[in-house]
Amino acid sequence: MNAHDSEKVIGTLVSKGYTQVDTPEAAELVLYNTCSIRDKAEQKVFHRLQQFKREAGKGKVFGVLGCVAQQEGEKIFEKAPHVSLVAGSASYTKLPEMLVQLEAGGRRVTGLSLDTDETFETPFTRRDNPHRAYITIIEGCDKSCAYCVVPFTRGPERSRTSASAMDEARRLAEEGYTEIQLLGQNVNSYRDPSPPGWDFATLLTRIGEIPGIRRVRFTTSHPRDFVKAIVEAIDENPALCNHVHLPVQSGSNRVLAAMDRLYTRDEYMRRISWLKSARRNIAITTDIIVGFPGETEADFNETLALLDEVQYDSLFSFKYSPRPNTAALAMGDKIPEEEKTRRLTMVQERQRAIQLRRNSEAVGTVQEVLVEGRNQSLGQWIGRTSQNRTLNFSHAGGNDERLLGQYLDVRVTRAGPNSLVGESVM
Ligand code: SAM
Ligand code: SF4
Repeated sequence: MNAHDSEKVIGTLVSKGYTQVDTPEAAELVLYNTCSIRDKAEQKVFHRLQQFKREAGKGKVFGVLGCVAQQEGEKIFEKAPHVSLVAGSASYTKLPEMLVQLEAGGRRVTGLSLDTDETFETPFTRRDNPHRAYITIIEGCDKSCAYCVVPFTRGPERSRTSASAMDEARRLAEEGYTEIQLLGQNVNSYRDPSPPGWDFATLLTRIGEIPGIRRVRFTTSHPRDFVKAIVEAIDENPALCNHVHLPVQSGSNRVLAAMDRLYTRDEYMRRISWLKSARRNIAITTDIIVGFPGETEADFNETLALLDEVQYDSLFSFKYSPRPNTAALAMGDKIPEEEKTRRLTMVQERQRAIQLRRNSEAVGTVQEVLVEGRNQSLGQWIGRTSQNRTLNFSHAGGNDERLLGQYLDVRVTRAGPNSLVGESVM
């Protein structure tokens, strides 16, 4: 989502006559788009800003965008006095005006209002990937997970109208994009604010029916709003990728309740059973947080048991990171850092074995891949399957760059924990 925000910021500024350069050294204006989901990401921003401090004296202008900007606000000017612009994502439509203020001699310009009904729609987006295009369909979050800054940094939920999402997808298909990825903090909480009143499953289906669109992905789905109609839509339309990212965070009901996740383990497992009983083989991935305040060894073991039970195709795992403004800050029984590290390693080791087994099941099958790149040193092409697995493959046709962006059938010959290897089927 942050990467796509950057694409929209670049598109907006380029349309106003700015030119994008390759390095911060070559720029007159340097904008940092930031993430504050965990403390480490936030620290990185201030470290990077320090690196370029001296450049400010030479006339370079620095701005901080995104969640750290929204969270820290004007405090950023104190921590990094060479910064002259601070703007959260809800204010990006006003960026050109803010830059005019700076050019007119303004020294500290801010855009921190969150009370906007606007979504960040822009006619100009400079997309990095020539085949896959992101479309934000819902912004912000109305949940209040005890550990999470998103509701504070991205504001309340706002959905785009179905007509504007459909128009953007049709335009992208006409421009030659074949894969669309629908984005939202809780993408499946989408609710069309205009009269057709589409829910997420309907929008997903309609996007998958647009001529020229071969793949539709979506992220992230919140388990509470994950309904059976989404699985039925995937079953019925092959253009909808057979992959669902469904973050569980913990396998313990006690921890789920403390996190205020709004579902129990059983409710989550019911959604998993819908996915597993689908006609198509749907890959399931998740997010796990270890070391949430009060997480006992028994709670943690329930998370490990859940991994065994679900057999995820992949997961992102994180050590709990205390964040400003969140409810979990006041909770007692903090877990020491070394213990969080131990639990994280255990999750990752357990999952590695599961992934190796899951990936091995694909050996011998033929999978359609979108060709995304080439690994020159290995002499292999890099493809992605509908299930979102990386499949590196050799192709007798050789080294023709025109293969990029094509869809090819590849037979899987080997499996590792993180990727597959194969040969194209001629
Ligand atoms: N809205 C999605 C959901 O609720 O499933 C998740 C969006 S969040 C930007 C991405 C992931 O970051 C979360 O699923 C969670 O695992 C992780 N995360 C969020 N806050 C965290 C924190 N304070 N410490 C560690 N991990 C965190
Ligand atoms: Fe954060 Fe929870 Fe909202 Fe996801 S649902 S963005 S974890 S508050």
